[in-house]
Amino acid sequence: MPSPETLVALPGRSERAGSAKTSPVRDLLALTERPEVISFAGGLPAPELFDLDGIRASFDEALGAPAVLQYSTSEGNPALREIVAGQYTANGLPTDAGDLIITTGSQQGLGLLSTALLDPGDVILVEEPCYLAALQTFALAGARVVGVPYLGDELDLDALDALASAHAPKFFYTVPTFQNPTGRTHGLAARQRIADAAIRHGFRIIEDEPYRQLRYSGDPLPSLATFAPDHVLSLGSFSKVIAPGLRIGWVRTTADIRPTVTIAKQAADLHTSTIDQAAAAHYLASGRSDAALAQIRAAYADRRDAMVDALATALPAGSSWNSPDGGMFVWARLPEGMDATAALPHVLRHDVAFVPGAPFYAGPADARAMRLSFTTYAPDRIREGIARLGMGLAGVA
Ligand code: PMP
Repeated sequence: MPSPETLVALPGRSERAGSAKTSPVRDLLALTERPEVISFAGGLPAPELFDLDGIRASFDEALGAPAVLQYSTSEGNPALREIVAGQYTANGLPTDAGDLIITTGSQQGLGLLSTALLDPGDVILVEEPCYLAALQTFALAGARVVGVPYLGDELDLDALDALASAHAPKFFYTVPTFQNPTGRTHGLAARQRIADAAIRHGFRIIEDEPYRQLRYSGDPLPSLATFAPDHVLSLGSFSKVIAPGLRIGWVRTTADIRPTVTIAKQAADLHTSTIDQAAAAHYLASGRSDAALAQIRAAYADRRDAMVDALATALPAGSSWNSPDGGMFVWARLPEGMDATAALPHVLRHDVAFVPGAPFYAGPADARAMRLSFTTYAPDRIREGIARLGMGLAGVA
């Protein structure tokens, strides 16, 4: 045994790992597990709307053949890829099954694209604010993340142009439809301009679309890939429309980087669970998923309305909030002089939780912003939670 003086210090963690912040959403969720807490913090789908019977029947069907328990191809289950390709094509974006790689949640898709595209020090552009776990993924890849600001509820497209000129980014990461954390959606003209900027400046776009099918009002908008098919990589997921525990998502890749993304997938986990993919394919083919999704949409529309209405009486004067056409989140702003992070402990005392907006920013944060998820509870419980939120905030002001 060497004496302590002769021990050589072990190498520390990588610089990249050190730059990734722990998710305060996860830390908060741990705090809010007490059943009396009404938590608007996590983005949890409503568990009572999971179609347990339909999903159970699909697993039974999938287990009819031993191949579903065997190793399989990295690209994923052919039937499932056909179904997803058919959905894109029906929505106006012609897609072959061969364009798709099934991933273990769309979160893995983000990691695979970062591995395939980024070298440490590369600049990428993100919306400001941005989905938090994407910021973590990009930090772990060693990227330099530059935020594109909003002007009110609209992305500042002139800033996108200027930042693209200044930094020659590898890609722009966007959640164009019902964004996490803000619920915002880029309109048709903005989509066209974002795609034009990518073509003009020569950067790629990663469009992350887990909420696309959760629309409660307004008309569907085309994928960014319809405007710039060679520049856009699209991510999708069944987490919000079937169940997140399935861990099934996908990447719609352009041909030039498909082999690289496939190698990244092989190296990450060989392939996504064969049995889960087969069950998902059976479930989608059964048609039961359409009926379940219609129920989810109807319930979430009521929940959104309940939250937006309740906020009008609960938030302090001078607050503002949006009413998104879909997704899972309302983005609210406290009045001038208030700080959402500082308000949180006061609110938690009333057994209600939200996520402050600050961690979602790559650069300087809007301290007044907060994210409220409206999907987890029935309308009465939402009204109760928002009333408690109002009481907690009244204690701060
Ligand atoms: N992207 C966005 C914008 C998200 O909000 C989420 C889930 N919170 C994900 C990706 C990851 O989803 P999953 O891995 O479950 O498909």
